[in-house]
Amino acid sequence: MIKQGNKSLITKKRTGWLWLAGSLICLLTSAANAQSTPDSLVNRCGVMDHERILQQRNPDRLRQLNELNNQIDQYLEKQQSLRQPAANVIYRIPIVVHVVHNNASNTIGGVNNVNISDAQILSQIQVLNEDYRRLPGTNGYNTSPIGADAQIEFYLATADPNGQPTTGITRHYYAQKSSFSIFDDDLLLSQIVYWPSDRYLNIWVTSIQDNYLGYTQFPTATDTLKGLPPRTNDLTDGSIIDYRVFGRQTGTVNRSLYLLGRTVTHEIGHWLGLIHPWGDANCGNDYVADTPPMADGSTAQQSCRQTFSNCDGKGQVRDLMENYMNYWPDACMNMFTSGQVARMRAVLVLNARRAKVVSTSASLPGSENLTIAVYPNPASSDPAVDVQLKGTQSFSVGLLDMAGRQLRTLSYTDVPSTRVILPVTGLSPGLYIVRVKTGSETVSKRLLVQ
Ligand SMILES: [Zn+2]
Repeated sequence: MIKQGNKSLITKKRTGWLWLAGSLICLLTSAANAQSTPDSLVNRCGVMDHERILQQRNPDRLRQLNELNNQIDQYLEKQQSLRQPAANVIYRIPIVVHVVHNNASNTIGGVNNVNISDAQILSQIQVLNEDYRRLPGTNGYNTSPIGADAQIEFYLATADPNGQPTTGITRHYYAQKSSFSIFDDDLLLSQIVYWPSDRYLNIWVTSIQDNYLGYTQFPTATDTLKGLPPRTNDLTDGSIIDYRVFGRQTGTVNRSLYLLGRTVTHEIGHWLGLIHPWGDANCGNDYVADTPPMADGSTAQQSCRQTFSNCDGKGQVRDLMENYMNYWPDACMNMFTSGQVARMRAVLVLNARRAKVVSTSASLPGSENLTIAVYPNPASSDPAVDVQLKGTQSFSVGLLDMAGRQLRTLSYTDVPSTRVILPVTGLSPGLYIVRVKTGSETVSKRLLVQ
């Protein structure tokens, strides 16, 4: 394991990305009928193969990717040097799921029907929230000292780009193709349906060729709200997921190693800027200090079998099979590390398009007057505080004992109504006061810590 100590979060292995070293061999494993393909032949993640195409379209893209990595490094170094705890705002990301199918009857659900049911889609959203919130009592929970709650939540969009009510699910019959390639078909899928990627996380669910489970477009430093000429990358910004691995143990989900919805957890990790822990090279750089270095991990594992890398020269570095960004089966996974969480949250601040997705998602409705809700109450773990206010304001959330002593203070600058997490770990059981103050208003609530 890597010793963290005083080490910066981002000073690990600076060998750079070997972007073009993706496993082209995988492209030779095409099968006519993917449904009958054994799990051992799937291509776990198409990100690096797709990245080659993106860089061919835009020769400046590699520089833009590296620039974002540098910006993240600087941002996290500054946070560390200021000893600022990251503000515990919960980012909420609206998802639109576009189901693109070749089923002329437009029937929804059923055996091997790409036009998957709403229930299957909802099961996937639930998995995302369990995994990104490290939710106790679910598959996404862990007690690892390096594991962390990403404090990122997902929901199906409630308003379409015209402001009309929506289920956050769109369905499209496309007669000309029954399956899509990971190469240039991202453009085709975007032509079939696309919602602005600075307001939504677009996920296209369809049948993917060549046994790929999914792929995603990485954010870069120069992602603008309107994309970049000549080939605008905003139109293809999102994840494309095979219908056989979208959702958990329901509907068309039929791959025994990939039944638990972790393909999407992994792919959205890429959308939030995470790189495979082996840095797509042997003992390579993933720009995260607390993920152990590992040898090339691009061969999908067939069981939760522990392996070790020789990145320390002694063959004794334990591979983090629990990590969502690795290639172990779904059942082995339950963890993002603190370093990965810091990186994803930095992307939500630094990348213009991602920052707009979370800022316009209006995490909570606004309110004419300051109102707060604290729950669960009584609290046996860190409770959430929903702070609703008018427009965008600066405010503090304080935790006081009954004698009025301030025990905790969290400060937020220029944010809309939002949900924050109030740390109560280490406090004696008893009654406390939660006090939220803006420039002009103060509201308090009692909180019972158990
Ligand atoms: Zn991947």
